[in-house]
Amino acid sequence: MSLNKVKRLWPRSLRARFTILGAVLFLIATIFIVSFSGVLLHREFESRVQEAVLGQLDRYARFDRQSPIRLFRTLQREHEQNRLRGTWVRLQNVSGVLWETVPADWEQDREALESVLVVHLKSGDDWSRATRERYELPDWANVDDDHHRIQFEEELLMASRVLPDGSVLVVGESLARFQIFIRVFGRSIFRGVLIIGAVSVLVGWLLSRRLVLPLQNLVRTTETVASGTLSARVPVPDSTGELEELTRLFNQMLDRIEGLVGTMNESLDNVAHDLRTPLTKIRASVESVLQRPDPSAEELREALLDTAEEAEKIGTLLNALMNLAEAQAGTLKLQKQPVDLRRVAEEVFGLYEMLSEEQGVALTLELPEEAVTVEADPIRLRQAVANLVDNALKFTPEGGRTTLSVTVEAAAAQLVVTDTGIGIPPEEQPRIFERLYRADKSRATQGLGLGLSLVQAIVRAHEAHIEVASVPEEGSRFALVFPKGAPSG
Ligand code: ADP
Repeated sequence: MSLNKVKRLWPRSLRARFTILGAVLFLIATIFIVSFSGVLLHREFESRVQEAVLGQLDRYARFDRQSPIRLFRTLQREHEQNRLRGTWVRLQNVSGVLWETVPADWEQDREALESVLVVHLKSGDDWSRATRERYELPDWANVDDDHHRIQFEEELLMASRVLPDGSVLVVGESLARFQIFIRVFGRSIFRGVLIIGAVSVLVGWLLSRRLVLPLQNLVRTTETVASGTLSARVPVPDSTGELEELTRLFNQMLDRIEGLVGTMNESLDNVAHDLRTPLTKIRASVESVLQRPDPSAEELREALLDTAEEAEKIGTLLNALMNLAEAQAGTLKLQKQPVDLRRVAEEVFGLYEMLSEEQGVALTLELPEEAVTVEADPIRLRQAVANLVDNALKFTPEGGRTTLSVTVEAAAAQLVVTDTGIGIPPEEQPRIFERLYRADKSRATQGLGLGLSLVQAIVRAHEAHIEVASVPEEGSRFALVFPKGAPSG
């Protein structure tokens, strides 16, 4: 069968593959175990037969030493009592065969025995055997051609001994019992293997269902998701292990994708909304001027100013989006130089001082006496801190407090913005750095949900990190942490 044909026949279903592989493995293991135990059994049996033959030789030799007549009598008695059934005993001296007992079933094959004996005696081996396979006699055996091919029904294991008077005693023991046993054993093993094999294929098929079910569930869920239902999830299997892990991770991935798609849709709505407002305003002011037959220069100027203002808002939004895209793609170009964090804090403080007063939020600045220098891009850093202060003011109601501080410790320099504002619920905290994410679902405050994503991108580009701690209704703390000893450079 060609390889291609095998490939075509090889089932596509994982379950069928498992079952076939299991059955093949079972078969190989069984063949191995059976052959191995067969060999062991054979050896064991043979060594026992050898022991028996040697024992017999010893015994007869002992009788012979006492008196050759005694040996004859013993042989005769044993023969009469039918105790030499499977045994071949021959005693011979120069003048010929003195005694011979031929195994019962071998009677008709006496000549074969004769030739085996010739071979045996001439070869001088301790052990020799007449096999039931074709027995080819060597040339020097010097026997008739008829004897060159002898078919024995069973095996005979024999040994000989030269007695003190020069005569030769040969004892051979039949291995027939073992061969019959092996045949019966083999047949029952074969039947047993067939039955166990069939049962194990069935059990394998049923068990593999459990194994493959999580994968089938995975395939089904993937199909459902691919057809557009993002909320589909794979049932997590009861067992622990790789499949459970895979299912869990797969579901986590789906959660994340669903979250991202949701945020994207939401964000698109937000962007559309944030773009539509200034565009509507532009249209309204341009149309109101156009409707007048003779607008004054002042009216024209005002309309143009409105248009410019709204266009700037649109520009800011688009810029922020592009800035962020650039920062997140890791292409943000930093102009690094030694920067005193206190200076950055002071500048941002200056930017927001007025605004905080207008909002009725107390903005305070807490700086150490010594300069806190880090390697940074001052413009980008200011942008990040401004975003944090902007948020702090935006989410802190009138009468609240916002603090901008710089601290320095052995391990890190920090620029911290704290507020006593509305705080962020714990479940929202991991998401606030996502692009276009806004925890404030009511959209009561202005914002695009881009600020913190940009802050994080800038901070990462500086090889620093950002820490958030926030309690709803109490306030938030955002810290930009610059590790010392490994200044970004
Ligand atoms: P936004 O333009 O909406 O401020 P950000 O990315 O800056 O976007 O912030 C994402 C969300 O994180 C905000 O919509 C708000 O819900 C929450 N947030 C950020 N800073 C604060 C803060 N200081 N206090 C409370 N909530 C905050």
